[in-house]
Order: sequence, then structure tokens, then C-alpha cells
Amino acid sequence: MGGLFSQRLARLGSQNEFKIVDDIAKAEAMGQQVVRLNLGEPDNDSADNINDCAIDNIKSGNTHYCDPQGVMAFRESIAGFVSKTRNVDVSPDQVLVTSGGKPPIAFSFLTYVNPGDEVIYPSPGFPAYEVWTNYVGAVPRPLHLEENKSYRFDATTLAPMVNRKTKLLVLNSPSNPTGGVLTKEDLADIAKIMEEQAHPDYRILSDEVYEDFVFDGNDHHSIISQPGMKERTILMNCHSKTFAMTGWRIGYAVLPTQAEAQALKSWSVNIYSCTPPFIQMAAREALDNPLNREITKNMRARFQKRRDVILPLINAVGGMHCTQPGGAFYAFINVADICKRLGAVEFSARNSELPPPSTLFQLFALYKHGVATLDRAAFGVVGSEGQHYIRISLASDIEALKTGVSRLAKASVDVNGFQAFLRQPELYS
Ligand code: PLP
Repeated sequence: MGGLFSQRLARLGSQNEFKIVDDIAKAEAMGQQVVRLNLGEPDNDSADNINDCAIDNIKSGNTHYCDPQGVMAFRESIAGFVSKTRNVDVSPDQVLVTSGGKPPIAFSFLTYVNPGDEVIYPSPGFPAYEVWTNYVGAVPRPLHLEENKSYRFDATTLAPMVNRKTKLLVLNSPSNPTGGVLTKEDLADIAKIMEEQAHPDYRILSDEVYEDFVFDGNDHHSIISQPGMKERTILMNCHSKTFAMTGWRIGYAVLPTQAEAQALKSWSVNIYSCTPPFIQMAAREALDNPLNREITKNMRARFQKRRDVILPLINAVGGMHCTQPGGAFYAFINVADICKRLGAVEFSARNSELPPPSTLFQLFALYKHGVATLDRAAFGVVGSEGQHYIRISLASDIEALKTGVSRLAKASVDVNGFQAFLRQPELYS
């Protein structure tokens, strides 16, 4: 007998990237003026033409249930866009529209992965990959992205991890949180290894939500364009980042077959029936109107400029270093020397039940120096011991970024302050 909550709930784990919201509120209640460098969303609003399109659709009564797979007009736009940009032939029947970018991740795990199957996912990586691996009872095989390889990986890293039990490989290029970008050659290597070594029915979940934020004039490449990979790839995307539509909750998946699109649809049908039709029409406007492409290009230029200003400032702080992100809009900062200097590494080693060093530093920087970041543990914990990083978002204005980095610099040498912080366990345990 037992307990209020189901056992399965516990499998979702306690890690939650939104927990920082409560910590920020608490720090502010304690008198801190917090600079928010934690945000995973563009710092501009959705464009007027998108907003107007949704309002017009609402006013004209497009407010009813609609096709659970997604409104045909929007699916046609998606299929056209993916076919053109990836040089593949995708039909609207292979597209599933979802409420945001998270459902295609969850639905892929629920649809394809059995207990005991192996799942390879990037670590550090978007937390949902590890959460769903655990939830479905799969064997987590985190692929540790390395700073000295600019967070790319190739055949040497992947090949020893892939075997006949490898059912799902998750790719995320450009990557959250590292900004790493896989090249066309990397993708060709990955495809080859998967074809030769993985489970006969393996799938690749390619999370391309940062596709429009590749810097330095480089192009985005997708594994779906590799020979034979259209039959293996679930390409997922959303409008959250590209069109600054995080609160709209709109995303999609392109499946290898129509039957698989129907299979994934059974989760959405049974959970939320359909994605609101007026939101789909506004999302179609975003995808089809060249004006919105221009806005996205400007966002990319803005993020790249901030990267170029802020990276030298980060790397000038003693004990911090950060590899130049090739895409997305984050800087993933190595704070290992700082964690050692402040005594966080030693403290965590003595108190293994308490958070790891970079979490302690992240909370110390928030509560005592007023700067909100995310810690390494927010991006997957399996095998992350000994890795000391924090993530800041470049989707913050340049003054906030400069203030934030100078506060981190002060925190990084505040040994006495850190020891005093450790005497307030209510702030970190
Ligand atoms: N995938 C990655 C890599 C992300 O960073 C995010 C959001 O931060 C998502 C998926 C989910 O997007 P959404 O907010 O639309 O659910």
C-alpha cells in the first residue's frame, strides 16, 4: 500500500530547470537585486505580425478543437520548410504539431524506448533527455561533451558507446548549454557508426531548436540530410527560440514514416487533444513570412556581438574559462579553479549528500552576489562528478551581462563570504 504519489512520479526526478525561479524570488526577498543571466529565452517579444495573426484568428472564431496531428496548412508549411532546408522530401503526413518543443522529446522516448534499452544523449545537455531516459527505465549512456573539443564529438567518442541495445541517440546541435556545433563531417561519422553498430530499429532524435543561431557565418547541418538518415531521424524543433515564442508553446516533430507520426500522436491526443488552432496559424505566419526570418537574423547578430564582447571579460577573470560558443545563446563557463579556491570542492567531498561544488557556487553567486546562473547539474547528473561549470545566457542585454560577470568575479574571490554562506544550509540544502 502506499503513499499519495505514484512510484512513477519519482522517476521524473527532482532536477528542475525552473527551480531557479524560486531561488531568485527568495534571494530578492532577502534584499538582493538579482541580475538574471539564467534565462533560456530570447530577450525580445514575439513580432507584431505573429501576434496580430493569432488575435485575428481568435476573433474570427478559430478557437475550437482541431486536427490532433496539427492543422494541415501549418503541417504543409513545416513539411515545405524542412524539405527545402534539409534537402529531403517530407510530406505533411509525417509531421506532428505539438505544444512546445518538450513534447516531441517525451513522446519519442515513450514511443520507441523499452526498459533496458540504451539511450545515448549529450551531457551536459537539455535536462529532458536524462529525465525521460530514467522515466522509461532505459540505461543512460551520457555522451560527455568535452571543452577541449569545443563540445563537439566524433567517431572516436561515439563508436565505443554504440551497440545492438542502442535504441535512441539524442543529438542537439547547436547545443544547450555548451554552444557546441556539429559539422557535416561529424554527422556523417555519427550516421555511419549508428548504421553499423546500433539496434536494428534505432532512431536518432535530432533536437534542432537552436538551428537559427549558428555564428561566424557557418551553416546549420542536420543529420536528416545524411544518406539514409531520413528513415532514422525524428527531427524536432519549436518556435520558442527562432521566433521568440517561448510562452506560445508551439513545436513539431518530423517522423520517418506516417505510421510513426500517428504513433507519436497517440500521446498528444490522450494528453492535450490538440494544439490550439489560432496558435498554429500564428506559427505558420512566423514560418512563412520572410519578415520574421529577418528578425531572427538580427537576433543572431545580436547574440554573436554579445558573445564577442563578453567572452574576453569572462576569460579575464582568474579561475574562469569559457570556450567560444559556435551557436545557441549561452556561455558555458568552467569554474573548477574557483570551486577549489573557495573550498566548495572540499566541502562537497566531505558532504556527499549535499549539492556538488558548482551548484554551491551558483547558489552563492545568487544569494550573496546577486547574479542568477544555472549549474552543471541542471544539464544532466549521470557521470557529471568532478565537472564544475555554470551557464550564463547571452540573451540578456550587454549591461546586465557586464554587471553579472563582474559580480561573478567578486564572488570568485570571496572566500570568507563563501564560508559564511556554507553556515546557512537553508540556502543550499
Ligand atoms: N530542446 C532544447 C535544447 C532546449 O533548450 C529547449 C528549451 O530550452 C527545448 C528543447 C524545449 O523547448 P520548449 O520551450 O519549446 O518546450
